[in-house]
Amino acid sequence: MDLSTPITYLKGVGPQRGKVLEGKGILTVEDLLYYMPFRYEDRSNVKPISELAPGETATVVGTVTATQMYKPRHSRLRLFELRVRDQSGLAIVGKWFRGGYLETVFERGQTVALYGKIEYDERTREASIVHPEFEVFRADDPEAALHLGRIVPVYRAIGKVSTRAIRSLTARALEGVERSPDPLPEPIRRRLGMPERFKALQETHFPGPGADMRALMAFRTPAQYRLIFEEFFYLECGLALKRRKAQAVKGIAFGLNDQAREKIKRILPFKPTGAQKRVLGEIAQDMALTAPMNRLLQGDVGSGKTIVAVQAAIIAIENGCQVAVMAPTEILATQNFLNFQKLLSPIGYHVVDLTGSIRGVARNKRKRLIVEGVAHVVVGTHALISEDVEYQRLGLIVIDEQHRFGVMQRLGLLQKGEHPDVLVMTATPIPRTLSLTIYGDLDVSILDELPPGRSPITTRQREYDQIERVYSFIAKEVRAGRQAYIVCPVIEESETKAAKAAIETYEHLSRNVFPDFTVGLLHGRLKTKDKEAAMDSFKRGETSILVATTVVEVGVDVPNATVMVIEHAESFGLSQLHQLRGRVGRGAAKSYCILMTENLTETARERIQTMERTQDGFEIAEKDLEIRGPGEFFGVKQSGLPEFRVANLLRDREALELARQEARAMVDKPGSPGELKSLVEYIREKWQRRYGLVQVG
Ligand code: ADP
Ligand code: MG
Repeated sequence: MDLSTPITYLKGVGPQRGKVLEGKGILTVEDLLYYMPFRYEDRSNVKPISELAPGETATVVGTVTATQMYKPRHSRLRLFELRVRDQSGLAIVGKWFRGGYLETVFERGQTVALYGKIEYDERTREASIVHPEFEVFRADDPEAALHLGRIVPVYRAIGKVSTRAIRSLTARALEGVERSPDPLPEPIRRRLGMPERFKALQETHFPGPGADMRALMAFRTPAQYRLIFEEFFYLECGLALKRRKAQAVKGIAFGLNDQAREKIKRILPFKPTGAQKRVLGEIAQDMALTAPMNRLLQGDVGSGKTIVAVQAAIIAIENGCQVAVMAPTEILATQNFLNFQKLLSPIGYHVVDLTGSIRGVARNKRKRLIVEGVAHVVVGTHALISEDVEYQRLGLIVIDEQHRFGVMQRLGLLQKGEHPDVLVMTATPIPRTLSLTIYGDLDVSILDELPPGRSPITTRQREYDQIERVYSFIAKEVRAGRQAYIVCPVIEESETKAAKAAIETYEHLSRNVFPDFTVGLLHGRLKTKDKEAAMDSFKRGETSILVATTVVEVGVDVPNATVMVIEHAESFGLSQLHQLRGRVGRGAAKSYCILMTENLTETARERIQTMERTQDGFEIAEKDLEIRGPGEFFGVKQSGLPEFRVANLLRDREALELARQEARAMVDKPGSPGELKSLVEYIREKWQRRYGLVQVG
């Protein structure tokens, strides 16, 4: 038996169990050995029942003295009760609602372990545990020593395969498997003081006596850490190889000549922040290389990404290339277009726009300007990658607000040029742990400094019985010459319903609440022309209050707006709330964000409190990741976030950093050519399918 032996060959795995395990992705002995315990129980040192205190979570080991079905008064549910006595002479009662199925599981005289939160039962005056996890031991079990009298691993049951069964199978696999050489390069393992693979597996599944329980539970024993590191290491090696391959491609080397330098300075309407200067430097350096740039620019809302992109555009244009700037919505595309035009036409560049709503003659005219190379910059939506749009010499692609695009669209634009440089900009700060995995093949620049003169935004939660006071506050601000947004609740997946809610709110507010002010309306179902009109009027200050759906979420820039009211804030995700709040606080005047809520759930409360506490996009993103888990964090699943079997992105950040460093060093400077070769082979064989690193090596 070796690591690749099918799981069904393992003693104790029949066809039925085999199917169940395979359903969970456990096909081989290796898969089983990498199915990790999620916690441990110290059964070498079980507390007697006499020493348990209510409220603590504990394991009890004892003998079953009685079982019964019991129907509490005032309850329709029947309860299964299990009485267990241990050496201290006291008993504890395990209780299961709808526990009828357990009548055939337990019988008097069995030795069992129960695990759960200890409570004091008023009726029986005994300790009890509701719905404990449990294990039954057979007196004649030859493997009894595996499950009792030691620190035992606890696994999540897989279908009907219990934690106890998994424990037995794992022990058998560890015993019988042929110990192949460790694939983790020895110099790295030595230098980092990590145990050999099989030793690590052995100690992770079956820690020896005296192992540190606290470290085990934190997944920080040397054995566990090695397995975590290993998983990240191969992923990062795969990404590093992919990146190296991309760097071998011949793209355009853009020189930063004096003329470009002078123009970059000349267009600046303000003094750039230190962060803007640093990031432009990083970009210019990338552009100067022959290898195509693949850079992710992360900057919180309002951090000033646009000007950086405009400056990068100048470098490309001064080298005789065209620039495409793509945004996810028409509103944003139009705004980008106006910004680029305002900054670039004074120095003689031709900027054109191209969106889905530009059709017929207007569209043909633009297409001609683009293919003939008259247009220096093309700003638009995904219309930029329509099949019929051809470029004369596309050298730089800027993609604004990345997370709204699929990877496919990124590729679509890439094919419009010959290995153009790519700058992806996102206002959703991505926790570093995620960007290292999803965007591991991109280089990352971070704008971590807001332009001067911004005052912090005061954020407050309010209930609906205070809405009148919120309205008077808005009125007060408007009378002082400011403007306000009122954003309507998110309605799952339906922009039409969201639009309807916005229309109703708009009618109510404009008629009954603010008859003296001009109220505007903006939602996704409006025609582009009407959307633009609504935006323009708000921008010029003709509209004082703008009722909108989340279409205002990205990019809208009106410095005079100081109030953001978010209706039913509990229905929004954290990063969405943060994006919306970023629409205010863009001018010198003090700004406010008011989160209207109703019926807060626990996690909604946590989101709202995070918003009240901080304005730091990265902190918010980390919190968002923590609340939602990596899988749901803006649909990362589709972005190719791998599923880890040992590692945990939240818990193991620092191991990921280490793995990345080591992987890059390994790929850039392998100890020997053979080392890299065997690494590539190993990754190709084992990891490509799981991580989709299709073009590795
Ligand atoms: P975002 O990163 O959200 O795209 P923008 O590029 O739209 O941010 O910039 C937000 C606002 O800040 C704009 O009005 C822009 O003109 C202004 N701005 C950007 N950089 C600076 C700076 N260094 N000094 C002053 N204002 C700046
Ligand atoms: Mg922007």
